[in-house]
Amino acid sequence: MVEIMNLEQLFRQHFPSFNFLFDFSLDQKSYFKIGGNAEVFYSAKNRQEAIDLLLFCKKENIRFSILGGSSNVIIADEGVKGLVLSLDFAELKIVSEAEDKLLIQADAGIKTSALVGKVAALGGGGLEGFIGVPGVLGGAIYNNAHYLKDLIGDSIEQVETFDLEKEEIVLLTREKCEFAYEQSVFQKNKNLLIFSAFFALKKSSPDEVKQKVAASIEKRSLTQPLDLPSCGCVFQNPPNDEHLKKIFPQFAEVQFVPAGFLIEQAGLKGTKEGDIQVSEKHAAFFVNLGHGKAKDVVTLIEKVKSIVLEKFNVILKEEVFYLR
Ligand SMILES: Cc1cc2nc3c(=O)[nH]c(=O)nc-3n(C[C@H](O)[C@H](O)[C@H](O)COP(=O)(O)OP(=O)(O)OC[C@H]3O[C@@H](n4cnc5c(N)ncnc54)[C@H](O)[C@@H]3O)c2cc1C
Repeated sequence: MVEIMNLEQLFRQHFPSFNFLFDFSLDQKSYFKIGGNAEVFYSAKNRQEAIDLLLFCKKENIRFSILGGSSNVIIADEGVKGLVLSLDFAELKIVSEAEDKLLIQADAGIKTSALVGKVAALGGGGLEGFIGVPGVLGGAIYNNAHYLKDLIGDSIEQVETFDLEKEEIVLLTREKCEFAYEQSVFQKNKNLLIFSAFFALKKSSPDEVKQKVAASIEKRSLTQPLDLPSCGCVFQNPPNDEHLKKIFPQFAEVQFVPAGFLIEQAGLKGTKEGDIQVSEKHAAFFVNLGHGKAKDVVTLIEKVKSIVLEKFNVILKEEVFYLR
């Protein structure tokens, strides 16, 4: 009789030297402090480990998910089936440096704030606003992280990916990454895993860059609820239209209207579902007051969406992603 192995046995047998975590609790890893257990969790220390695991999952038809710093995901209370893979390689290399230009390669696992800090010390400009973005570079590229009008993709020349369909490393130009506000090709094509990115940065004086970094830190601390677990802005800023321009002429010139403003105008600041609350400080943020659950987040999202639709005829779309 053929013995049917469970996932734990299968992973242990094929990767005896890997330190997998089985039934690993994801809530403590999550910035939002929410989420059930990963059936199997692994932190890949290098590209080869990640490639071996991804190809194994493909061959054995095992479900897998990539997790960065868990600051832009709502992880299901029931947990996540299959392998949850974290890419923990985090090198930063200077590719070339000239008087006015700095070209660097940064791995997906580097903390976004650490990347900005290191680049600032080298006098590289353009990333200053991303200093307060939690999580790692892979996650920031996936959603094309934004700060005011800056998009992280604007500074990227190429992204190094592992293409699971072609089973090889593929370099994508910025155009191929299809970056736009809250958009990238990686959201559409789950076979493209982000391994690193090449940034072309303008050289400025380190003092000027450091001043911009400090201004961004200050602005965030004044406007965001940084003292409580959250997943950042839950909703994308909706595109402006004639109806919105009429009721909110102060935004007549902008392309997107702040979701937080609309939620506040709808009277929803402070609204709670269980221990999840629409932040009193920034209405696009939901905060976890203690024992919030993913199901509470989902219920509050639906409530906010339906009231904003009713009041302003605007369909809010999630900026966060679901890990189920
Ligand atoms: C206090 C606070 C402030 C924030 N400020 C901002 C802000 O200014 N601008 C902004 O845009 N966001 C902001 N965010 C949201 C979030 O921090 C960012 O989007 C961040 O870049 C997500 O990175 P992460 O590593 O945590 O991604 P995760 O939450 O771990 O993952 C997000 C998605 O990316 C995918 N992913 C991650 N790594 C890879 C990879 N290597 N290859 C393929 N897919 C991958 C995951 O599967 C998941 O679907 C904020 C959040 C908080 C809590």
